[in-house]
Formats: sequence, structure tokens, C-alpha cells
Amino acid sequence: MGKIDFIERELQSLREKGHYRQIRWIEEGPSPWVRMNGEKVLLLCSNNYLGLANDPRLKEKTLRAIEEWGCGSGGSRSISGSLAIHRLLEERLAQFHGCEKALLFNSGYSANLSILTALMGREDVIFSDELNHASIVDGCRLSRASTQIYHHLDMDHLEFLLRKSDPKGKRLIVSDGVFSMDGDEAPLPELTNLARRYDALIMVDEAHAIGVMGAKGRGTAERFHLSNQLDIIVGTFGKALGCFGAYVVGSRSLIEFLINKGRVFLYTTALPPPICASVLASLDLLEEEPDRRDRLWENVRYVRGGLEELGFDTMKSKTHIIPVLIGEPERTMEMTRRLLERKVFAQGIRPPTVPEGKCRLMVTVMATHTRKDLDFALEQFEGVGRELGLIG
Ligand code: PLP
Repeated sequence: MGKIDFIERELQSLREKGHYRQIRWIEEGPSPWVRMNGEKVLLLCSNNYLGLANDPRLKEKTLRAIEEWGCGSGGSRSISGSLAIHRLLEERLAQFHGCEKALLFNSGYSANLSILTALMGREDVIFSDELNHASIVDGCRLSRASTQIYHHLDMDHLEFLLRKSDPKGKRLIVSDGVFSMDGDEAPLPELTNLARRYDALIMVDEAHAIGVMGAKGRGTAERFHLSNQLDIIVGTFGKALGCFGAYVVGSRSLIEFLINKGRVFLYTTALPPPICASVLASLDLLEEEPDRRDRLWENVRYVRGGLEELGFDTMKSKTHIIPVLIGEPERTMEMTRRLLERKVFAQGIRPPTVPEGKCRLMVTVMATHTRKDLDFALEQFEGVGRELGLIG
């Protein structure tokens, strides 16, 4: 037997379970319609919720920053890569959230890893919602803290675990603000209440909420007026802001601690300056064009209502992430394939991203989709849903 035969065996097992993934290539985008296999298809699974990724003003400011700064940052932040544009963006983000300080990261994944591993250790306990994003799961594992998983959104279970725990060190509660696969929201008032009563730190990952939730797009914390009750807020630039990268906001001492102890922060090349310029432009547009958010929510309501009327199960989602529950992996991927034949791209999601038997299509609309686009999408969902016997 060859030493890498295990790879083929594992791939074969994934194929047999219907879990094998292949990358789909987008040849032109990102906009409501993209080109795949040479054909225009309606994109219905992008996190570019506000349609900013393709905005000409973002592009123009990014190009200007390339002229001024070049393409790369040239080093890690702690050696030679801390640039004035990083400071500008961090100041802007701290102001955006009404927090003392902000710190940039190269992605939401690395932010979560860095924060959890820097703050928490063997003597500590982390309380984590069972549906938190993989980067939180991995951050918990790498931190070596004891991790107590509470049932999804179940505050009685969380309290039970908090009461039972008696750590030598610290407690930290961590939750997604908006859950990326179920499209539901963290109960922030209850979470902050429990954190206060049990003297636990509280961290909320607002990856899917920034730009979308709250009166000014400042996340679920803004929606519940609880920004000042959270110790650690993580946000990303790759979703509604249409760019790339991430950040954390919190107290001055938290940020200084992460600059000194966050390994993922310390040992990686800093975010490229043109990306910082596009995020700054995106934050400007968020303030100047609140109607983008209104248009997004109108589109979300229209599509969710349409899908539910057709008889699809949208898992009681109330946010801009609309899961369409199918169940088994084969049927789910068949649905994606048939929709694609009809020029609609809605990706099927399978384990390990979601639990066994809970495969689904992730439907996300953009502020820039037209009513005609959405009617077209609903028509195709109806057609394929009937073909596969998913709706009557
Ligand atoms: N946190 C949550 C809740 C997410 O859904 C994601 C990405 O999907 C991330 C973090 C990772 O962010 P990034 O794509 O910037 O690494």
C-alpha cells in the first residue's frame, strides 16, 4: 500500500456518503448575475449582501490606494507592516462601534482563532453555542480551555452549565450574532444578563450582522442596544462590506493584550493597504446610503415569503440568511444542480457544515437584485421543487 492511499480511501468514502465537494468556478462577477461555465446565472448564495463588492466608488478608491501605497503591506504589524491606513481604519471602526479600540485581522477565521487562543487557556472555561462558526470551534479547541457546548440558543442550558462550572480561571461566553447556517439570531439580552450574573466575559461574532442588522448596520449589538455590554465584538469585511479581512473592537487593554499575545495577529503579514481603502469606502457608503439596507430587507422578505408560500421549509429564519431545508445530501445537491441548469445558483450545504439529515440550500439575496430577478428565482425553485417532489 502506498503511503498516500488513505487520501483516496477518504475521498471515496466522502463520495459514497454524498459529501464530496467540488469547487464551482465563477468566471465573471460579483454581481447579481455571474458567469459560470460560460453562461449567466443568477447568484443566490453570496455574502455580498449590499452589493458593495462591485461598486464603482469602492473600486476607484481601491485603485487610488494602489497608486499611493502599492499592493502589499510588506510585513507583519509588529515588525514593519503597521501603516497609517491601518490606523485610520482602526480608528474608524472603534468609532463605528462606540468602543475604545479596534484591531485588524486578515480574516474572520484568524480573528476568532487569535482572540480565543490569546485570552483563554487550560484553567479557563468557554461556553459556546453548538452552532457557532467553525472558526470559533477551532479557536476553542486550540485554546486548550475546557469548552462547554450549550444547545443552540438554549439559555436554560447555558445557565445550567455556567452554574455547574467552577473554573480556576476565567469564564467566557461566545456566540455568533447571526448564525450563518440557520439564519437565526443570538439572544443578546439574555446572554449579556447571564454573563453579568456569572462574571463571564462575552464575545459576539458579528460576521453576518455587520452592515445588515441594527439601524445603522452596526450589528445585532446595535439592534439590541447592547454594544457597551459586550467585551469583545468581531466583525468581518468580506460579507456585507464587500471587501476582505476582519477586526475586533473592545477596550484599550483588550486590544493591547491581543497585540502582544495574539499569535495569529503577530505572525502574519498585515492586511494590504488597498483593502483597507476599500473598507473605508465601504463604511462611507454604509453611512451615506442606508436605503441599500432597506432594499436588502425588502428583497429578503419577498423571497422568504415566496419560498414559504410555495411550501419550502425556511427553518423559521428571520434574518437575511434563508435556509431551505431539504434533508439528505443527494437530494440537496440534485436541487442545486437542477437549479443551475435553470440558471440559478443556490449552493447546497452538507455535513460537516450542517448536521446529518439537515442538508439545505443557503439562499441569500442582495440589495442589488431586482424584483424581476427574484421572480425568476422563485419560478425556478417552484419548478425544481415540484420535479423533486419537495413541494406539492
Ligand atoms: N464568523 C462567522 C460567523 C462566519 O460565518 C464566517 C464566515 O463565513 C467567519 C467568521 C469567517 O470570516 P472570514 O470569511 O472573514 O474568514
